[in-house]
Amino acid sequence: MRLSIIGSGYVGLVSATCFAEMGNIVSCVEKDPAKTKKLQNGTVPFYEPGLAELMTHNFYEGRLIFTTDVKEGVKEAEVIFIAVGTPSDHDGSADLRDIRAAAAEIAPVSPRGAIVAVKSTVPVGTCDIVEKILTGIRHEPVCVVSNPEFLKEGNAIRDFMYPDRVIVGTADERAKQIFFDLFAPYTKRGQSIVFMSRRSSELTKYASNTYLAMRISFINEISMLCEAIGANVEEVRIGVGSDSRIGQHFLFPGVGYGGSCFPKDVRAIIKMGRDQGLDLRLPKSTDDVNKIQRERFTKKIIERFSCDLKGRLIAVAGLAFKPQTDDVREAPAIDIIRAILNAGGAVRAFDPAAMENARAILNFRAMQYSKSLYEACDNADALVVITEWNEFRRPDFDRLKALMKTPIIFDGRNIYNPRILKSKGFEYFGIGVH
Ligand code: NAD
Repeated sequence: MRLSIIGSGYVGLVSATCFAEMGNIVSCVEKDPAKTKKLQNGTVPFYEPGLAELMTHNFYEGRLIFTTDVKEGVKEAEVIFIAVGTPSDHDGSADLRDIRAAAAEIAPVSPRGAIVAVKSTVPVGTCDIVEKILTGIRHEPVCVVSNPEFLKEGNAIRDFMYPDRVIVGTADERAKQIFFDLFAPYTKRGQSIVFMSRRSSELTKYASNTYLAMRISFINEISMLCEAIGANVEEVRIGVGSDSRIGQHFLFPGVGYGGSCFPKDVRAIIKMGRDQGLDLRLPKSTDDVNKIQRERFTKKIIERFSCDLKGRLIAVAGLAFKPQTDDVREAPAIDIIRAILNAGGAVRAFDPAAMENARAILNFRAMQYSKSLYEACDNADALVVITEWNEFRRPDFDRLKALMKTPIIFDGRNIYNPRILKSKGFEYFGIGVH
C-alpha cells in the first residue's frame, strides 16, 4: 500500500518504519528541515531502541521516503496519517494548531479518495474539525478516520508490531476494509482490530492514558500512607498487584509520571469534561497526586540538608522521563533539578541517552553533565536516582561510597534494597519504604 505520514516524531517515524517493514511504501512529510535532512542521510533524530536499524534497512530498500514537501509526500497515498504533536495549551486543552495546519496543507494536494487518518492524540470532535477543513478546501467529501496510537517510547517498535489491539474510529465500510488489510500483518496473534465510532475512538485513547496514569498516582498515594503508617509500599504493591483482577502493570511507586503523553492527556480529559459542564474528579486527583509526589521527594532532599543546599553538590542519575528514551518532556528530573538549584545546590547529572535534550532545558551555571554515574558522584553530597535505567540498578556501591563526600542516596524509583544499602553504610531514602 502507498502511505503518507505527516510528522516524523516518535509516533510518525516509528509508524512509518513499521509500515515499511511490512512492504508498504511510506512517504514521511516533516516540516522541520534539519530533522528531514538527518532522516534523508539515514539517521534517526532521537533515541528509540531498535529504530535506527529498522529505519535504515527500509530506507535503503526504498520503502521509506523523507521530504518536507507535502505535495510530493502525499501524491500517491491511499492513506495519509497525521502524526503531529498535540501539546498542552495554557488552559490544559490540547493545542490543535499543528493538526489544523496539517489538514489545511494536505487538502489541496491529496489524491482523490485518499483516506486521512488522525494518529495524534486528539480531543473528541477533532476528526470532525479535520473533515470540515478538508471538505471545505476540496469541495468534495473526504473520509477521515481516527486511529489513535498506543505505543510506548522505549518499546515502540514492539508495541507497534505486536499491538494489544488496534482502534479504528470510522463508520465508512471502505475505510474499514483498508484498515483491516493494513493492520492484518500486525494482528496475526489474534489481537483485535476494534472498529468503533470516531468519537469513541478519540476518547478511548484519553481514557486509556488517564487510567494508566491513575494507577501510578494511586500507588504513589498509597506510598505516602505507607511512609506515615509504617508499612512498606513494595510489599503492598506486590500484594495488591497479585490479584488477577488488578495486575502489576503501572503500579510502581516513584517520583510520578512524566513524558509527552500522560501529563498532557490527563489535563486534556479534565478540560474535555469541563467543557461539558462535568467535573472529572479522578483525572483531577491523578494530576494533583502526581504534582505532590515530585514536591514531596524534593522536600525530602532539601530537608535532609536543613533546607539549605548552598555549597552542596547533588549527583542526579537519570534525566529522561523513563528509561530507554531520550525524551525529557515533562520529565520529573526537570522539576526536581530546578528545585535543587533554587535551594542553592549544584547538580551534576548523568543519563545514558537524554543529556543533549536536558541541556537544552537545564542550561545553568550550577548544572553540570558527566559521562557516567561514577563521575557524577565524585565528591557529591548525595545521589538522587530519578530514572530507573538498568545500568543504575546494580552499581559498585563500595566505589560510589568511596567517591561521595557523604553516602546519601535518594532513590526516586525504589530500585535499591534499603537493607543492603544501610548495611554498606549509606543513608537511604526511598518512596514509601523504611
Ligand atoms: P513529536 O513532537 O515527537 O513529533 C511531531 C512531529 O510533527 C515533529 O517532528 C514536528 O516537526 C512535525 N510536524 C508538526 N506539524 C507538521 C506539519 N504540518 N507537517 C509536517 N510535520 C509536522 O510528537 P510525538 O511524540 O510523535 O507525538 C505525536 C502525537 O502522537 C501526539 O498527539 C502524541 O500525544 C501522540 N502519541 C505520542 C506517543 C509517544 O509516546 N510519544 C504515544 C502515543 C501517542
